[in-house]
Amino acid sequence: MLHVVHHADYMAPRPERGTFKFDKYYLVMEELRASGAPITEHALDPMPREWLEQVHCPRYVEQVITATVPREKERRIGFPVTPRIASRVRHTNGGTWLAAQLALEHGYAANSAAGSHHALHDTGAGYCVFNDLAVTSNRLLAEGDAQRILIVDLDVHQGDGTASLTAMRDEIFTLSLHAEKNFPARKARSNRDVGLPDGLDDNGYMEVLERELPPLLDDFAPDIVLYQAGVDPHGEDKLGRLALTDEGLERRDRFVIAQARKRRLPVASALGGGYGADQRAVARRHASSMLAMADENRLYPVAMLGA
Ligand SMILES: [Zn+2]
Repeated sequence: MLHVVHHADYMAPRPERGTFKFDKYYLVMEELRASGAPITEHALDPMPREWLEQVHCPRYVEQVITATVPREKERRIGFPVTPRIASRVRHTNGGTWLAAQLALEHGYAANSAAGSHHALHDTGAGYCVFNDLAVTSNRLLAEGDAQRILIVDLDVHQGDGTASLTAMRDEIFTLSLHAEKNFPARKARSNRDVGLPDGLDDNGYMEVLERELPPLLDDFAPDIVLYQAGVDPHGEDKLGRLALTDEGLERRDRFVIAQARKRRLPVASALGGGYGADQRAVARRHASSMLAMADENRLYPVAMLGA
């Protein structure tokens, strides 16, 4: 059973400036529903403003909510922040929070949007407005749902916003595997960064992941994993520089779930990046990713959750 968080506001009309397309969030759900796999859709509440303000500069939160983000910040984000976008990002942030709550209950749950890892303290960047990973982490800690959180970021781009927003928090560990030569040009410092060479294939990628993730789970000993499961390491991705195949992405995702669930850890995933002229193909990659993780999660009884 895939527990997936979705909301009608995840879609937004195509922006009048910039190249970002919101179609995939609709197509991902279509792919999931058409798959025939058992799924339960969960509706979410928008992230309350005060939780956004704990991580982001209150003035920036105000600018987003009132759709008055200065033009230079909008340029960094990549699209104008309209009232629809303002509503959307509060919902997508609420979605990652709900996915974490559902993961605590079911072992694994997915948000069908977000993974907005480039968003910084007082501005968005790289198609990201509010950083759902940092906001959810902060709230999980503040509400006592977790004491230690591991953020695994396997999007092809570095999780620079998440790294900088959580740098001062010893209870949050950030792991980022990314194409070294890709955006952002100036990388932030995650707790653990692995810059990958262009063209890395499935086996090369898995070698790195198998080396990095298990010891980290043992040494840092988190009690929940937030997983940015971007599909842009795929060889056909327009903005990726790696050469993973569909099978490679599935191996990656199953490995993350298996390693965490073996240690009784819940995993909540956020959608992350995935770009291409064929939005349907990108949506299919995201859907397959979530379904593979739910399938892997079946191997671990929910009774195993929590030590
Ligand atoms: Zn990306």
